[in-house]
Amino acid sequence: MLAKSSTELVRQQNSALVLSALRRHGRLAHTEISDATGLASATISSITADLERARIIEKSEQQATVGRGRPRVLFSQRRNCGYLITVIISSDSIQYSLVDYAGTLLDRFTEPRGEGGTAAFLAAISAALIRVAERSRIDRGSVLLVSVSSKGLAHPTEPVLVWSPVFGSQPVDFAAALKDGWQAKVILNNETLLVAGALLEREVKTRGGGEPVLAALSLGHSIGLGIARRAPAGVPEISAPNFGHMLHMPNGGLCRCGARGCVEAYAGFYAILRAAFEVPMDTIPAKFVPVAEIDKIATRARQGNRMAQLAFRHAGAALGFGLSRLLSLHGPMPVFITGPGTRYQDLLQAGIEEGLAQTHVVRLGGMPTLTIVADEPSLVFEGHLNLAFSIVDQDIIGSRQNMQAAGE
Ligand SMILES: [Zn+2]
Repeated sequence: MLAKSSTELVRQQNSALVLSALRRHGRLAHTEISDATGLASATISSITADLERARIIEKSEQQATVGRGRPRVLFSQRRNCGYLITVIISSDSIQYSLVDYAGTLLDRFTEPRGEGGTAAFLAAISAALIRVAERSRIDRGSVLLVSVSSKGLAHPTEPVLVWSPVFGSQPVDFAAALKDGWQAKVILNNETLLVAGALLEREVKTRGGGEPVLAALSLGHSIGLGIARRAPAGVPEISAPNFGHMLHMPNGGLCRCGARGCVEAYAGFYAILRAAFEVPMDTIPAKFVPVAEIDKIATRARQGNRMAQLAFRHAGAALGFGLSRLLSLHGPMPVFITGPGTRYQDLLQAGIEEGLAQTHVVRLGGMPTLTIVADEPSLVFEGHLNLAFSIVDQDIIGSRQNMQAAGE
């Protein structure tokens, strides 16, 4: 392989800038690309011509709204340049979505998760991925990337789930789900990491910069946390620390991970159920608690039942203490709360504030802003697209421009 010269690298970076501006704003005219990227007009002309020749972007015309002016020429991603599949794994189901290169959702279906070990789980995903391609009659080879998300701990570089609530520490390698006929890259991310990334991107889009760093806290059967921080290079830094299994109370309640005293063992749905019914704290936690069960406890709490109120209060306090540790380590940042547990925010709020108020960082700098964002599934999907397309765009620029250079 030939080493890339620095001018080529700059050119690829500028091409990536143009593509990401088109992703963020949709169809753009030449001058709008210039405004969004800060690149010189001549540079943009040359990049858009190249990207068009490589069939990565396409031109369309928009009639002038007033008078008989010349139509505006708009650039956008070429839809059939390639495809992306997202696989969103929840505690009881798996959702598959097919998206074209311009970001249009083409197909979506959800399957129950099924029983069995990791081999059966991967075989079911493998079969479903083939179905995704067949239903839309696309060639498997044209799928550029499969983006998977799950609760639990993802390997930092490989698409391997290192620990999950269902399979424990039995690793799940998603690359094994794509064998014959696939050329797609496979990535795996923690679900709340994607949520944090999506929230940061929304800040940039709607508030022209917005918060430079934020945390996403997901409440449900398990407790997830993501941190997203804007970076000078433009690609945000996002991470998902193991917040749910951070120690809240030494020798405390039994957690699904097998340890004692984790945040989740006080704030997860099963923990709220356990506390409300005064079940011993060393009882093996239920794998899955229907939201309807927690709704019943919430109703009792709102009617004044003391044990039910305390269950939510303790859950809130565990979250508040956890957040205060996060802020002590990472500095102040706003917290966006999401997931099915947000429907109990009225019952959790006092505990969360109580847990936060006692720390030095909050006493010095004040309470962090807590914002409820109820629609978690939209955030997860947005997070998938943001991350996946930034990878796909980089790959596609590299490979097509190399091909072009070789052909010339
Ligand atoms: Zn745990």
